[in-house]
Amino acid sequence: MARYAFDLFTIGAGSGGVAGSRRAGSHGARVGIAEAVRIGGTCVLRGCVPKKLLVYGAEFADAFEDAAGFGWSVGQRRFDWARLIAAKNKELDRLHGIYVNLLTSAHVAIFDGHARLVDPHTVEIAGKHYTAANIMIATGARPVMPEFPGAEHVISSDDALDLKALPKRVLIVGGSYIAVEFAGIFGTLGSQVTIAIRADRLLRGFDHDIRSALMEEMTTRGIEIRARTQVVRVDKKGHGLVATTLDGGEIAVDAILYAIGRHPTTGNLGLEKIGVRLKERGAIAVDAASRTEVPHIYAIGDVTDRLNLTPVAIAEGRAIAETLFNNNPTVVDHLNVPTAVFSQPPVGTVGLSEEVAREEVGAIDVYRTRFRPMKGTLSGRHERTMMKLVVDRKTDRVLGCHMVGRDAPEIIQGLGIALQCGATKRQFDRTIGIHPTAAEEFVTLRDKVPEPKAEIAAD
Ligand SMILES: Cc1cc2nc3c(=O)[nH]c(=O)nc-3n(C[C@H](O)[C@H](O)[C@H](O)COP(=O)(O)OP(=O)(O)OC[C@H]3O[C@@H](n4cnc5c(N)ncnc54)[C@H](O)[C@@H]3O)c2cc1C
Repeated sequence: MARYAFDLFTIGAGSGGVAGSRRAGSHGARVGIAEAVRIGGTCVLRGCVPKKLLVYGAEFADAFEDAAGFGWSVGQRRFDWARLIAAKNKELDRLHGIYVNLLTSAHVAIFDGHARLVDPHTVEIAGKHYTAANIMIATGARPVMPEFPGAEHVISSDDALDLKALPKRVLIVGGSYIAVEFAGIFGTLGSQVTIAIRADRLLRGFDHDIRSALMEEMTTRGIEIRARTQVVRVDKKGHGLVATTLDGGEIAVDAILYAIGRHPTTGNLGLEKIGVRLKERGAIAVDAASRTEVPHIYAIGDVTDRLNLTPVAIAEGRAIAETLFNNNPTVVDHLNVPTAVFSQPPVGTVGLSEEVAREEVGAIDVYRTRFRPMKGTLSGRHERTMMKLVVDRKTDRVLGCHMVGRDAPEIIQGLGIALQCGATKRQFDRTIGIHPTAAEEFVTLRDKVPEPKAEIAAD
């Protein structure tokens, strides 16, 4: 008889938990997985997928507008938010079904319900106990919501994906990528959008040229960005809401979306009692191999608050399965992970921002261009693309590639491979461009940006 019922028990069936459990099952391990809400997790049900479907839906508005410049007469347009939401939800049901099938076909036993640890090898779900040799915690993160009078009237990104109607006026609080993505969705679909941020700029942590280019483009598209603004209360007035700011100002809207960050889901998991250490904001402390301070207990994905992205959570989950059950010790490299913001226009970025490169590397060269894409010439759209390379002056290695503009996420994914390979600026220059594209600018950047006179402010 085996000492434990399972070789691996995973808590949380989101991106990381499902990927790691499936991989472990495919290597012959006996795997169990618990899910408190719905198999699929944040990315599939409340994040990347539904958000991107709404982005696609919104972008038709631009396409109809642009078409006129190319000879099209587009008839009367009518947008039905409820139909888009229903279509999106149908697709999410389909994906949920696929995830369940993927787990069962890898012989992973599924348990519905909230799971917690009662001792280092025992998981409790609905009063029943299950033992496992190894535990993988993949419980993800949750939106941080405000605590002030009237906080019950504001919504999170989870709620925004299922609104009954498109709000005419919406206030988005926060400068995160989730905030700017929803601003793009609502704004493009015709809502009047205001963003309130405490700082001066959106997208903290991103390269400063991305931040300013995106703010400029969003403002051109009619989104009002109120910097240094803090909401302190919300009141219901008639059918609408009024947000009061710290300086006494009022913003009247129909919906208020908070996107000020996410906290790891570590409550009621029984972690402290068994010696799993938590860091600030409740994230689980792990080493490079995603191991907690209890050696057979691992934590992956957003619950560890490292790089909170789906492909990272998936890679971390699979790495554990490879290490434990395929005799293939694997550690995920968190360097040069490409990432995107599906804003309007979108952002793509990989590697070091100019600020971080100056701090960590010192002598760098910066190449940058800003131009109106070819499509804009006939469509008349006043949107400009920004592209930028950050290069190590000593080694000529490209340290960072940054872009704000159409197709940026698709373009930057390819450049992520170049950065992984340690490509130099000279190798970028020797690459022949594809003409006519925006992407070719990345291999034809010649002029260095003059050194900044003052330190670039980070906020
Ligand atoms: C609006 C939004 C947009 C996003 N867009 C992108 C994007 O474009 N690209 C990208 O890479 N990332 C995106 N993300 C981030 C991405 O969704 C997460 O990084 C990813 O889902 C993390 O996977 P995970 O496995 O760590 O956790 P999750 O996918 O969050 O899964 C955790 C699961 O654990 C379950 N759970 C929690 N506690 C328990 C418990 N005690 N017992 C049982 N089950 C439990 C939860 O119900 C959940 O299903 C987005 C996130 C949001 C919110």
